[in-house]
Amino acid sequence: MTTIHRIEPGQPIRLNDSSTRGKDYYEGDKATAESEFKAVRDEFIELQPRLYAEGQQKLLIVLQANDAGGKDGTIGKVTRGVNPQGVRVTSFKAPSQEELDHDFLWRIHKAVPGKGLIGIFNRSHYEDVLVVRVHNLVPESVWRPRYEQINHFEKLLNDSGTTILKFYLHISKEEQKERFQARLDDPTKHWKFSLEDLEKRKLWDEYIVAFEDMINHCTTEYAPWYVIPADQKWYRNLAITRVIAHTLQQMNPQYPQNDADLSNIVIT
Ligand code: AMP
Ligand code: MG
Repeated sequence: MTTIHRIEPGQPIRLNDSSTRGKDYYEGDKATAESEFKAVRDEFIELQPRLYAEGQQKLLIVLQANDAGGKDGTIGKVTRGVNPQGVRVTSFKAPSQEELDHDFLWRIHKAVPGKGLIGIFNRSHYEDVLVVRVHNLVPESVWRPRYEQINHFEKLLNDSGTTILKFYLHISKEEQKERFQARLDDPTKHWKFSLEDLEKRKLWDEYIVAFEDMINHCTTEYAPWYVIPADQKWYRNLAITRVIAHTLQQMNPQYPQNDADLSNIVIT
């Protein structure tokens, strides 16, 4: 259940052959999925304080998608009810001059979660092999070695106690059109619309190739990609939350013992 969307190292995926429709993976209807989602999210809500109290392990969740792919919505829905004290969300925008003056992982490394924390990346170091590649912001001789550099970086994080989950939210070009249109139709969503998004939409096919290469080059045992069918938000939320809750169960954080004898303490 939690592995159906996980990519295995050495088994490259073709995104255009991979369904964007949650309906293809779920027998029940939307209402059933939503109630299951809430139950699984409750597990997440209960496991997170144990991770925080234990204060040893770290969980990093990376979200990547095309524009309007649902990264913001996923974060809002999946973490609702989780204690914000234990979660750090970082949204990566176009780099500042200072960031550009450093290696591409410099700003990323500063944002990775510390002990007991869950870090969520809304966009990430993968932009440096996505937008940067598709728009020729640097030559191939610079972005191509980044796959290997990223694998080494993620290995370092994993060796230092970080469990890594990477979700690519897979939507169809038609679904993106509908979501852009919804942003245009609703004045409260205008702020989410940018003309740049339309320029990127024209390069849809190039982006798919870049996403595919990112997934196939950077799926490792220690930091796998999950390709989540994301046209239906209710399925996307359920599928991602299942993986997170399951992963936290596997991490099995424990409340620390207090070495002092507390049994005879009287609070005056
Ligand atoms: P949004 O997530 O809609 O707020 O948009 C953030 C923008 O920042 C997107 O257009 C990204 O492609 C862009 N961005 C993020 N990281 C990078 C990067 N490393 N290089 C260039 N552009 C980036
Ligand atoms: Mg945007």
